[in-house]
Amino acid sequence: MMEQYWEFRKSLPKDTALLFRLGDFYEMFYDDAIECAPILGITLTKRSSYPMAGIPYHALSQYLPKLLSAGKKVAICEQDEIPKAGKLVKRSINRILTPGTMLEDSQLDSRSGSFIMAFNISKDYSLQASWMDLSSGEFYCADFSKPENFLSVLSALNPREILLPECGSEKWKSDETLMGWNAIFRSLADLRPVSLLPDYRFAPDYGENLVKELLGVANLSGFGFKANENVLGAAGALVFYVSENLRNKPQNISFLRKIATEKCLLIDAATQRNLEIFRTSSGLKEGSLLDAIDRTLTPTGARLLESYLASPTIEAEEIKRRQNIVWDFFNAPSESAELAEYLKNVRDIPRILGRLQNRIRSPRELGALLSSIVQIEPIKKVLKACLGCPEEKIENAFGDYSGLANYLSSALSDELPAKIQDGGAIRDGFDAELDNLRLMSRDSKTWLANLEREEQIATGIKNLRIKYNGAFGYFIEITKSNLNLVPPHYIRRQTMTNAERYTTEDLRKKEREILHSEVAAMEREDAIFTEVTENVLKYFSSLMKTSHALAEIDVFRGWAELARDWDYCRPEIDESGEIFIEDGRHPVVEQVLKKNGTSKTLAFVPNDTILSSGEEQIAIITGPNMAGKSTYIRQVALISLLAQTGCFVPAKSCKIGILDRIFSRVGASDELSKGNSTFMVEMNETANILNNATSRSLIILDEIGRGTSTYDGLSIAWGVVEYLHGKGNSGPKTLFATHYHELTRLEGALPRLVNYRIAVKEWNDEIIFIRKIEKGAADKSYGIQVARLAGLPREVIERAKEILSELEAEGFTMREHLALENKIKRKPSARKPQPDWESRQMSLF
Ligand code: ADP
Repeated sequence: MMEQYWEFRKSLPKDTALLFRLGDFYEMFYDDAIECAPILGITLTKRSSYPMAGIPYHALSQYLPKLLSAGKKVAICEQDEIPKAGKLVKRSINRILTPGTMLEDSQLDSRSGSFIMAFNISKDYSLQASWMDLSSGEFYCADFSKPENFLSVLSALNPREILLPECGSEKWKSDETLMGWNAIFRSLADLRPVSLLPDYRFAPDYGENLVKELLGVANLSGFGFKANENVLGAAGALVFYVSENLRNKPQNISFLRKIATEKCLLIDAATQRNLEIFRTSSGLKEGSLLDAIDRTLTPTGARLLESYLASPTIEAEEIKRRQNIVWDFFNAPSESAELAEYLKNVRDIPRILGRLQNRIRSPRELGALLSSIVQIEPIKKVLKACLGCPEEKIENAFGDYSGLANYLSSALSDELPAKIQDGGAIRDGFDAELDNLRLMSRDSKTWLANLEREEQIATGIKNLRIKYNGAFGYFIEITKSNLNLVPPHYIRRQTMTNAERYTTEDLRKKEREILHSEVAAMEREDAIFTEVTENVLKYFSSLMKTSHALAEIDVFRGWAELARDWDYCRPEIDESGEIFIEDGRHPVVEQVLKKNGTSKTLAFVPNDTILSSGEEQIAIITGPNMAGKSTYIRQVALISLLAQTGCFVPAKSCKIGILDRIFSRVGASDELSKGNSTFMVEMNETANILNNATSRSLIILDEIGRGTSTYDGLSIAWGVVEYLHGKGNSGPKTLFATHYHELTRLEGALPRLVNYRIAVKEWNDEIIFIRKIEKGAADKSYGIQVARLAGLPREVIERAKEILSELEAEGFTMREHLALENKIKRKPSARKPQPDWESRQMSLF
C-alpha cells in the first residue's frame, strides 16, 4: 500500500497535500502529516516508524477550508473498489482541490462569484486575462492595454486564485520598464494564492486548441476571436489547470465570452474601496452599497447583482431595457410579491448543474433542481401578467420544463439521501427491477426477525440476538451465562468478553441472499440515478439560459421593491454629459440614519446636484468638518453608478449623461502598511486620475494635499483644479470638497468652476448642521466648534478660541502664517491650557 501511496505522492507538486483514503479515514503521511496536522488541529501519530495524521472521511468538508485557507492545495485519493481481504484496493486521485476550483456548496459563498483568473503580459505591454467561475460555468477573457483598467476588473472580481506564467511573473516584479504593470505583480502575492505554470502553457496556439476542444467547436470565430489571439493563451492556461485539478475537462463550460472593457463604466480599485461598493472600509458587507440595494432572493440573482455593480454599462439601450422591467415590477406590487414567493424556492441552478456535470453527484442536487423548475410555470404566468413585453419573449427566455419536472418527480423519492450509496433516492414504482430487489432485501429482514424469535424459543435463551457487523456479517450472539444452552449445530465465529458469536448453515445462506440483493439494489439504484442525471443534463444549455433569466428577474424585482420602499426614481439616461439630481440622497447613509435614528434625529437631508462637462464642470465645496461634504460628493458618485446599472436612484428626479469612469480620491488608504506614506498614496491616486480621466468621467476629490505643509498642499490642490478645468471648453465633471477656502477665489477666473457650501447655523456659539448645500463659499471653518463636539478638553477649546481671535484681529493671511505662528508661540497664555500630566498619572494609582 505504501508503494501505491508513493506513486501518487511523486506525481504531485510539493505544495499539494495528499489525502489518502484508508477505510473510513483520509490519511496523510510524512511531510504532509507534519505540516497539515497543526493546521487542522489534529494529532500527529505514527504508523510503524513514519508520521501520520488522519481525518474521518465524512468530516472532509469541515477540514478542507482550513487547509485551503492556509494556502495548501489538496489531492483526494479515493478507493475505487470495495476492499477485499488480502488484496490491495485500487485507488486513484479523484480531484485536486484549490481555492479557485471548489465546487462543493459548503466551500462556496452562494451570494458571491468564485473566480480563478489567469493572466499574462504580451510583448506589446498589454495584458491578457481570462477568468472562470467553475462552480457556475462562466468563462470570460479580456485584453487590457492599461493597468488601471485591469485593476478595476481584478478588484471587482476578487478572484480566489491566480495563475501566472512561471518565468514571467518573477521577472515582471522587478521590471521597471513594464510601465505600471510591475506594481500589480508585486502586490499579488500578498493578496491571494498564486499558482505558477510553465510559460508554454500560456502560448496562444496551444490555448486556442484547448479552448476549441473544451467547447467542442472547430474554430472560435463564432465567439468573436481571431486565430491565435493572445488572450487565448490565458484562457488555455486556465482550461489546462482546471482540467488537471478536476482530473477531467470541466463539463459545464459552454462559452468563452470576450469582455469589452470599453463598454463598461470603469471604477478603479481605490474608488471601489472609497465608495464602499462591495465592502465597507472595515471589510464588512453590511453597510456597503451592495448590501443596501440587495433585495435578491436567489443565489444567482445575488451574484448577478454583484456583477452589475462591478461593471455598470455605458450602453444606454441596455440600461433602458433593465429600467423597463424594473418599472413594470414597480407598478405591479402584488404580482411582485407573488413572484417573490416562487423565487424563494429557486435554488442555485448553475452550481447544481456544475456539480452534476463534474461528477459530484448527490440525489439532493436533483431534488433542488426539481424544486426550482416547478416554479417556472407559475413565474411565467406572473410575468405575463405584469411585464410589458410580448408573451413569446417570456416563453422563449424561460422555456418549458413541465416534462422534465414530471419525470423527476416520478423518479425521485420525497426524502432524498445526501449520497446515492445511502440508498432510497429513487422512488418505489419507478423501476420494476429495483422494486424487486428492494422487496427481496426487505423480506430477508423479516425472515431474520422471525429467525431470532424461533431460535429464542428453540434454545430457551431469551436474550439471544441476531446482529450484524461489517467484518463478520450476520451472527447469533449468546451471553456467557447461557453458553450451556447452545445447540450443537451452531458454528462458533468469534469470542467476546461477555458473549460468544455463532452462525448456522441457514443463516449463512440467507446472509448471502441478503447481501446479494442489497448490493444488486444499490447497483441498480446507482445506474438509474446516472441515467436520470444524464437525462437532466440534456437540458443543460437551456437550463443555463433559464437560470440567467431567473437571476435577472430576481435582481429587477428586488430593485423595484427597493425603489418602492425608499422612494427611488427612474433616472433619465442620455449622452448629454450632464448630471442633474433633484433631492438626491446617499443610499447607504439614508438607510443607516433611519435604522439607528430615534424620532428626534434628523432624517437624511436631500440635496440637488448640477454638473455638466461644458458648463458647471467643477464644484468646489466648502463647509465645516462634519457638515456633510464627503457624504454629498459620494452620493453623487453612487447615484450615477446605480443609474448606469439600471437601478432606480435615491432622488426625486435625476438625469445622468452616461459616464465612462468614476474616480475618487478620498480619505487615507490602507496602503500605509505597505510603507507608502499617506501623502504618497494620495499623490499616486491623484496622478492616476489626472492621467486617465476624460470629459465623460466623474471625479470626486475629498481634500487633496493634506499630508504636506499648508502652502504645498494648497498649491497642489490649486494646480490640480486648474488642470482639471483645462483650456478647452469641457472637462471631467468634478466635485472637490476642501478646507482650502482660498480655492473659492478661482470662481470667476475659471469659467466652468462654481462654489458651493454646506450651510450651517450658529446659535449661542454652537454650530447646528442643517446639511443643505447652497451656492457660495463658506465663510468660516467652525473647526473649534466641531472640536468641542468631538470632546476636546474645555481648556484646549478656550485657548484655541483666543488664538483664533488673535489671528483674525491681525487680519491673518496665508503669507503671514509663519510670522504669526512664532508670535503665538512667544505669547504666554492667560490661562493654563495644558493638563497637569503628573497629577493625572499619579491619580491612576
Ligand atoms: P464632512 O465630510 O463634511 O466632514 P460627512 O460627510 O462625513 O462630513 O458627514 C458627517 C455625518 O453627517 C455623516 O456621518 C452623516 O451621518 C451625517 N450627514 C451627512 N450628510 C447628511 C445629510 N444630507 N442628511 C443627514 N445627515 C447627514
